[in-house]
Amino acid sequence: MGKKGIIFVVSAPAGTGKTTLVRMLQDEFPNVIESISYTTRKKRPQEIPGRDYYFITHQEFEQKIQDGEFLEYAEVFGQYYGTSRKFLNEQQKIGNHVILVIDTQGAMYLKEKIQAVFIFIRPPSMEVLKERLIARKSESDEAIAERLLWAKKEIECMKSYDYEIVNDRLDHAYDVLRSIIIAETHRIK
Ligand code: ADP
Ligand code: 5GP
Repeated sequence: MGKKGIIFVVSAPAGTGKTTLVRMLQDEFPNVIESISYTTRKKRPQEIPGRDYYFITHQEFEQKIQDGEFLEYAEVFGQYYGTSRKFLNEQQKIGNHVILVIDTQGAMYLKEKIQAVFIFIRPPSMEVLKERLIARKSESDEAIAERLLWAKKEIECMKSYDYEIVNDRLDHAYDVLRSIIIAETHRIK
């Protein structure tokens, strides 16, 4: 009774499938809430403001940094992304578990700051990752090349996480992810 919600930090190279997997979790577990980050990057056509991100300007983002509104923030592919401290506190207070889908820089920073379960999702191979990025049709060839280069660096951070999930077959990867959530939310200590 009155137990504070757990924080799950999920990272994966762009195109691995983290958005897909976290959406599945939210459909199954009503008390698992994805934190909505602020970003300065442009909205993709299929994205909805307030569901996928809060899209703001560089100036607005910098003001929020000055006001201490971010639990963490990072620059990824030339754009700012940040986690709202207020959103997280409010959700935890009412007993919800919160998932932060953030990059490895933000995750490594939070490792020193907060208690959380760190989950790394990786693609079965770099070739498959490239295929998924191409299939998603949301980035230019240049942006895909940049993401693949950065993916190699992110995969090197995997050893600092608590769990590793390979997103080969979606149903298998989802089984592992939901098992981690179920186990961690039933932990006594
Ligand atoms: P991320 O959020 O990690 O950038 P997305 O969830 O947007 O990745 O997934 C990238 C693309 O790969 C999407 O088109 C998605 O439908 C597809 N995808 C996700 N998981 C799998 C999988 N296990 N097998 C095949 N395609 C997948
Ligand atoms: P995308 O632009 O593809 O949605 O996200 C690019 C990267 O930014 C992904 O690795 C994503 O997890 C990360 N990201 C999204 N929100 C945040 C955030 O609030 N903080 C940090 N550090 N990274 C974020």
